[in-house]
Amino acid sequence: MDRPMKSRCPECGYIANSIPPTHKCPDCGGFSHDWLIYDWDSFASIKRRHLSYNVAIICLAHAGLLTALILGSSPAVPWMLALLIVPAMVSGWRCRRQLRDQSKYQGHKAAIVFPWFSGFGGL
Ligand SMILES: [Zn+2]
Repeated sequence: MDRPMKSRCPECGYIANSIPPTHKCPDCGGFSHDWLIYDWDSFASIKRRHLSYNVAIICLAHAGLLTALILGSSPAVPWMLALLIVPAMVSGWRCRRQLRDQSKYQGHKAAIVFPWFSGFGGL
């Protein structure tokens, strides 16, 4: 890490330079284990990476759909590949919307580094 990452209290929105060691918010006094990371640049770079994954998946899904249409309805794998287009489009759309609107950014959880298809994060 080349610079300190700011943190945001999930209760009151207080922004600290780092998560207090006791996890106690100096502003509202609440204890939280869900302090958000408040760093637009790292958030945006993660989202941009996910967006490129989604674009790749959408291309792959199109190829799967095309293969399924050419080969007929029997092969299951191309159809399954084609079904990936749905979450990829939803996730890609969300990434684009989040990237476009920095003013709505309110911090993020560390788990967002995992894209939806990893099984760890949500959409
Ligand atoms: Zn607080």
